Amino acid sequence: MASTIQNRIDFLIERAKRQNPAINERKIRAAYECAAKAHEGQKRRNGEPYIIHPVSVAEIIVEMGLDTDSICAGLLHDCIEDTEFGYKEIENKFGTSVAELVDGVTRLGMLRYSKEQEQMEDLRKMFMAMAKDIRVILIKLADRLHNARTFQFLPERKQRDKALETMEIYAPIAHRLGMSRVKWELEDLSLKILDSIGYQEIVDGLEAQSSEREEFLNHIKDDIGKRLDESKIPYTISARVKHIYSIYRKMYAQNKTINEIYDIYAVRVIVDNVTNCYNVLGYVNDL
Ligand code: MN
Repeated sequence: MASTIQNRIDFLIERAKRQNPAINERKIRAAYECAAKAHEGQKRRNGEPYIIHPVSVAEIIVEMGLDTDSICAGLLHDCIEDTEFGYKEIENKFGTSVAELVDGVTRLGMLRYSKEQEQMEDLRKMFMAMAKDIRVILIKLADRLHNARTFQFLPERKQRDKALETMEIYAPIAHRLGMSRVKWELEDLSLKILDSIGYQEIVDGLEAQSSEREEFLNHIKDDIGKRLDESKIPYTISARVKHIYSIYRKMYAQNKTINEIYDIYAVRVIVDNVTNCYNVLGYVNDL
């Protein structure tokens, strides 16, 4: 186990460096050593060593493209709350900036959420206001994302509370920050808990359509590609199935079955300037 975690740290640093050569490898390794020591002997609910959680959070932070201090804070984010390694120790060893980030994440975690509708908007606002540094919110989102990926290990009652909180507070905040991939994943993981039957129905429905879908999406990509090749516009094109929750919402709002919903697919064409963007829009409307 120890070596696997070590590999993940090596890989995380390698990736961070590729994105940003100025990343401070020594500092990140030191933060990992401290976190591993502080959480030594602690276990997560699924029986794994606790350190897997902060390392997973740090990986998400690297994916978000954040800086050295954010990665360190991700590794140390549960230390103030759960270990002997407190604010002072973090500040002495990693500086005020890392200590402030960890402290901010800890304080956001103490915000108590209630199910009253009016309070949710207030809570989202308070959430944004409490974090003077946007990195605090991003680290907290990474923390929640990893916790949501492991919802199944919580007791059932807690699963629902956390999933509701994720759907009502965290996903909208991710949306507001333009982090659509994080938002989608948070929504889908929450839906899986909140309406597991509805969720499964969509998964099965998509599964049943999968071969036609491949063909359909390839066909669309080819058609658009051909047209763009002719007009010599440089482009990249990708197509995907929309995330489960957005399909779910449509089925629910329009009272339809999955086979009656047509905008299940999203096609993205990226071009190099605004004029070409409008040109592509015109071609697609033509087709
Ligand atoms: Mn955590």
